[in-house]
Amino acid sequence: MGKNFHTSQLKLSKSAVANNIRFIKSLLGDKTIYSPVIKGNAYGHDIETFVPLLERNGIGHLSVFSADEAYRVCQVKKQGTRLMIMGQILDDQCKWAIEEGVEVYAFELERLQILLATAKKIGKQVLLHIEVETGMNRLGFQAKEIPQVIQLLDTYQGHYEFEGLCTHFAGSESIANYLRIKNQIKRYEEVYQEFFDAGFTPKLRHTACSAAVISYPETHMDMVRVGILTYGFWPSKETFIAYLQKNGMNTKDPLRRVISWSSTIMATKTVDAGEFIGYGMSYQATQAMHLAVVPVGYAYGFTRSLSNMGRVLIKGKRVPIIGIVNMNLLIADISALKDVAKNDEVVLIGKQRNNEISVAAFGELTNQPNYELLTRLPESIPRVVVR
Ligand SMILES: *Cc1c(COP(=O)(O)O)cnc(C)c1O
Repeated sequence: MGKNFHTSQLKLSKSAVANNIRFIKSLLGDKTIYSPVIKGNAYGHDIETFVPLLERNGIGHLSVFSADEAYRVCQVKKQGTRLMIMGQILDDQCKWAIEEGVEVYAFELERLQILLATAKKIGKQVLLHIEVETGMNRLGFQAKEIPQVIQLLDTYQGHYEFEGLCTHFAGSESIANYLRIKNQIKRYEEVYQEFFDAGFTPKLRHTACSAAVISYPETHMDMVRVGILTYGFWPSKETFIAYLQKNGMNTKDPLRRVISWSSTIMATKTVDAGEFIGYGMSYQATQAMHLAVVPVGYAYGFTRSLSNMGRVLIKGKRVPIIGIVNMNLLIADISALKDVAKNDEVVLIGKQRNNEISVAAFGELTNQPNYELLTRLPESIPRVVVR
């Protein structure tokens, strides 16, 4: 990785990855493929660092959103590891994907046509996943288009593998969507039947994301596309509670967070009562105070909305951030601590001694779900693999 001149570090725990994979596999049948979703720079964990951690634990299928992510994965994955693009791929990228053996979603006729024609032209089969609309109303073939899809598959026999028939649920992490999800499952089965009756059977049926894996076991089918659980986070509190209800309310959280974020104290100082601290007048010392300056600010993904609100861990204690979060710095109040010195560790997210600042607690203050906070962690901060 070269020299680490950065002001903070994102650590990835390889034992946490192994733990989460073991847990997720324990929920699935032997025949169900577990495809970790590594879009959004592996939910902020860094594609290049994370892919080998997955492969080391027996993962052989990966899912991304776009061709640029797929390209990055191709540079680091093992040859035998399968890769699937669930979203964007432009017309002139189709040839690349087919040549590389990258599996692709098709969700509209024009794309399907281009994929099939390209495969025919270059004499290599396209590995197709046909996405069907079942009620989310985002991407996927609509009912009235299915006959044309079947027609195209018939015309281009021999130029594709029908790898999968898939759909995505509209909010399986919330019980409020229960009926909508149940209808989607029913609709999916109907479309599957339509393909089957026409003589086209996909190798894999797949519909489930993390929340569906936990709350709708009937959706596991032949493959699951699991993002957030892989990184050790529940899709929502509701999903965790659903899990507890099934397994006993005293069950320990089976997941372990993979990522933690830390820096070190850059300088300490004391100020007198009455002094304003940092930019402007948002914080005034009511008594003499001891402060620590930490070289992390909003340019590093530490949001300014945590000004006068966030917490960090120093010496195993939770201490408040005071004043405005700057572009490159924040200031913590260490008046309550003894023997704090320059270069002491500061934990922004994660554990220190017996204390923890969770991504969720961090996100609650800023009103960001885990998903958003993780994917906003800057790519430039080095990811370091630890035990
Ligand atoms: C992001 C995504 C997933 C994974 O969602 P999680 O809630 O993180 O498990 C699965 N399928 C599709 C189509 C997605 O876009």
